[in-house]
Amino acid sequence: MNKNAAIKSVAMTVDEIRALARETLLANGCDEANAGAVAENMARAERAGAVSHGLFRLPGHIATLKNGRANGKANPTLERLGPATLRVHGDGGFAPLALERGLDPLAEAARDMGVAVLAIVRTMHYAALWPETTALAEKGLAAVAMTSSPPFMAPAGGAKPFFGTNPMAFAWPRRDAPPMVWDQATSVTARGEVMLHKMAGKPMPEGAGIDADGNPTTDPDAILTGAQLPFGGYKGNSIALMVDLMAGPLIGEVCSYEAGPPNNTLGGPSAGGEIVIAFDPARLGGPDAIDRGERMFEALLAQEGARLPGQRRARAREAADRDGVAVAEETLEKIRALAS
Ligand code: NDP
Repeated sequence: MNKNAAIKSVAMTVDEIRALARETLLANGCDEANAGAVAENMARAERAGAVSHGLFRLPGHIATLKNGRANGKANPTLERLGPATLRVHGDGGFAPLALERGLDPLAEAARDMGVAVLAIVRTMHYAALWPETTALAEKGLAAVAMTSSPPFMAPAGGAKPFFGTNPMAFAWPRRDAPPMVWDQATSVTARGEVMLHKMAGKPMPEGAGIDADGNPTTDPDAILTGAQLPFGGYKGNSIALMVDLMAGPLIGEVCSYEAGPPNNTLGGPSAGGEIVIAFDPARLGGPDAIDRGERMFEALLAQEGARLPGQRRARAREAADRDGVAVAEETLEKIRALAS
């Protein structure tokens, strides 16, 4: 069942979604390069069924342009810190353009050195991490990406927001199939899911969050003013801790607790960076590394009920290309008001 079924929606093609996002960003202070990169990112999210990273985020982006926190004309620049260490300075713009400028040089460095690291800094970040990890795996590389977000999640045992929902993604190249990619928040659900549940008037799953007094609740509104919780208790907490350090002090960016409150209530992006690490399986594991991965997947899938991560997005893409994408009317009304 579509978890956002209670929301009234309109069918749009992916091209229409991309064009609407681009035009709205252009009308609100972005140049072509920045508008194009964000619009492409949102269109890919909608095509993959990742509603919480699609057009729903556009009003938040516009608010961030209008309040001056995001630079719509950013010109991100690449700096080579060493043969395997790269940094893109985002110039205060949205993360997708900074990533666009860093991914090819990262892939090149990983092929040369076996492993390479890209740090994206001084960006406004909101997006999912599967687009960049998938792009690297499509080039035959394994990839890990992490980013922190403003403090929305209480630490295990605590009752006040401290960590971001701190997502992490991993991608692995396949022999004759699209890459295997998982991408997940370290909270029980991503923040956007809480906002979408609020929009649909639906309760959150048990264990997703607490209210401002620290009491367990399934009310999305109470969780938004209280705190989300890590998945798997202290185990998700440990991963959130690692993501905060890797996408924070390690690359010269802020930790979640230093990021301050989110800059608007519309799900807009927040200041921060991202770390992306790429590995060349052929250099490190030898020429049969990809085939050994294939054999492992085959053995895994022999178990009834098991599946590879990424299949839901693959199915969503097929459905989007066939039937279009359902976009919430409420979201479209907000965007049309911004485009005029
Ligand atoms: P989900 O819990 O929906 O999914 C997490 C991963 O688990 C997916 O890769 C999914 O693959 C996989 N998966 C789900 N079910 C199974 C299964 N039965 N077997 C194997 N794999 C499975 O994601 P989240 O809600 O945690 O995160 C959603 C998005 O939000 C992510 O893209 C994340 O990057 C983003 N995010 C961004 C933030 C930011 O500040 N930039 C902050 C937090 C989150 P599949 O898709 O095939 O189901």
